[in-house]
Parts: sequence; structure tokens; C-alpha cells
Amino acid sequence: MTDKKPLSGRIAAVTGGTGGIGKAICERFRREGAVVYALDRATMALDGIEVLKMDVTDPKQVDMAFGQIRERSEKLDILVNAAGIEIEKTIEDTSLEEWNHIFAINVTGTFLASKSALPLMRKSGGGSIINFGSYDGFIADPGLAAYCATKGAVHALTRAMACDYGPEGIRVNAICPGYIDTPMLQSFFQDNGDINTLEKAIRDVHPMRRYGTPDDVAGLVNWLAGDEARYASGQLWVLDGGLTAQVQQMRL
Ligand code: NDP
Repeated sequence: MTDKKPLSGRIAAVTGGTGGIGKAICERFRREGAVVYALDRATMALDGIEVLKMDVTDPKQVDMAFGQIRERSEKLDILVNAAGIEIEKTIEDTSLEEWNHIFAINVTGTFLASKSALPLMRKSGGGSIINFGSYDGFIADPGLAAYCATKGAVHALTRAMACDYGPEGIRVNAICPGYIDTPMLQSFFQDNGDINTLEKAIRDVHPMRRYGTPDDVAGLVNWLAGDEARYASGQLWVLDGGLTAQVQQMRL
């Protein structure tokens, strides 16, 4: 007799699915038994995971990717909106083009992928959408103005979607990570001075004395995706090793 895995029979799509956090989520879902589609700009081979090329800012590419999921799997149970970029600037240094670009990926991308996913979730009789906010959507890191604004928008969109689709059994939550060790964080370190000093300073300011890993995030995403979280919706789940529980943040 084979043990049924928790996500057996579930179909999952992850935008930004080949990125630092997205890849860990795809691999966790696969281990839990789901059929997984990683949707990303670049296609790279991921073991046991179908990677579809999709730019979240392009409605045609989004339609096409979800059309492929419909053809192959007929339905969708889980959508994770993890595609995102960061721009490290104040508003004066941010061009209108850069402002529109980051909103197009972080906010409009979440809107477009969710719009295409909803009809497929109805075919499943419900589902779970997990958006990516950030602790920067609650409090601000200096020099990240446009990024902070996009994450605040994702938080509000998450609550609105949860209200609209809860009656159909579709739960919508956002994960709001602190510092997670991915290419995005490494690029942030590189742009802000001596890496070793900065990494230690950041670790030391966390009550847990470390920053997070993609697998830490995948654990919470996996819980929100599954049946154990059946009553969890409309919430912003901060995952930051206790960082924002403190009165004072470090200054970078
Ligand atoms: P990564 O840069 O490692 O991964 C992001 C992924 O999104 C990449 O694969 C990237 O592709 C993809 N992507 C970017 N633009 C598009 C696009 N237009 N269409 C499709 N895919 C795109 O970042 P993380 O894994 O660290 O971040 C994942 C999410 O978590 C983001 O929303 C981020 O804002 C959020 N987050 C991350 C934190 C951290 O400390 N790492 C903290 C708080 C929130 P490509 O490589 O081609 O650019």
C-alpha cells in the first residue's frame, strides 16, 4: 500500500518559479505530491517540474501559459504569485519608467496571473492563491520606495481577492518575508557595501540570529496551500525570524 502524499492530485502553478524562493516552493510542492508548473521569464530544467515561459507583465503570455495548464491538467488548485523585482532607489532617483516597470511585475503580474487562474480554480471547486508581499509593505527600508509601494498594493489586493472569492472556496493569502537568502538578497548586499560586514550585521539584528532560507518560506507556502489551512484566508503572514517584533531596526 502506498501512502497518499498531502498534495496528491493537486495542480500548482508558481510564477517566478525558477527564482530563489519560487524554485524552493516548486520543489516542495513536487515532494508533497502535486503536479507543478513553474512559470518564469527564463526556462531552466527543474527535476519533475514543467517549466513554462511566461512574462507576468504580458497578458498574451499569461493567457497562453494558463491555456497550456488547462490543456494538460484541466484545472488548478494552487497559484503562487512569486515573480518580483526590487529597485533600490528613493522616489527622486526612480524614473517613471522604472516605477511603471516594478508595478507591472509585482502588482499587475499578480493581477494578471490570478485572473487567468480563477476559472481553472472554479473547475476544482476551490483553491488557494498565495501572493508575495513583504515586511516592506508594512514598514520601509530606506531607498526602496517603489518596491515598498508595490508590496503595500499586493497586501491590499490580497485582502480584496479574499473577500471576493471566499464564497467560492478560493482562499487568498500573502506571505510577507523579511530577509531571505536568494539572488534578490545577494544583489541587495552587493549594492550596499562590504558583503561580509553587512551579512553579519543583518544576521545579528534578527532575534533568530540568521536570515531566512527559501525552504523556510516554502514551508509556510506549503501549509497555506494545503487542507490544514482550510480556514486561513485574507491574511498577511509575516515570516521574518522575529525581525519586525523589535522596536528598532538596523540602519543600512
Ligand atoms: P528572485 O530574484 O530570486 O526570483 C524572482 C523570480 O521572478 C526570478 O526567477 C525572476 O526571473 C522572476 N521574474 C522577474 N520578473 C518577471 C516577469 N516579468 N515575469 C516572470 N517572472 C519574472 O527573488 P526572490 O525569490 O527572492 O523573490 C520572490 C518573491 O519574494 C518576490 O516577490 C520578492 O519581492 C519577495 N520577497 C523576497 C524577499 C527576499 O529577501 N528575498 C523578501 C521579501 C519579499 P529573472 O531571474 O529572469 O529576473
